Amino acid sequence: MGKYGQHIREDKAVLTQPRCPFCSTLFERPREISTKLSFFSGGICGCGAVYSYDPTRNNMGEAFMDALVHACGEDWDLAMSLESEKDYEEKFVVYKELDHSLSSKAVSSNPKDRIVNMIFVRLKNQQRT
Ligand SMILES: [Zn+2]
Repeated sequence: MGKYGQHIREDKAVLTQPRCPFCSTLFERPREISTKLSFFSGGICGCGAVYSYDPTRNNMGEAFMDALVHACGEDWDLAMSLESEKDYEEKFVVYKELDHSLSSKAVSSNPKDRIVNMIFVRLKNQQRT
């Protein structure tokens, strides 16, 4: 994974409602999600998408893995065997915690988009163990 941590200046991006990029349902504020090993900040949408929020943007690779593994029911082996696009989809957004909103400019499918701080992952086949 590349460098995710670069800080950029906030611009005047239009804020928009916090909706899941997959199903457009409003999602809840990130909360502490327990995993086998520790926890991450995020949540689960009704459509099965798992989101992971990293306010520092420093560990987006880790945030992504947390979301993917959680989507796989904490099955690391399964998570590692999955391929992007084929087995799961990922979306990257800029979440504004203060307003509980998204920056409309930043919905992106590009993980190198350095301003993103929240990742949504949804399995295509909803494999669960
Ligand atoms: Zn959703």
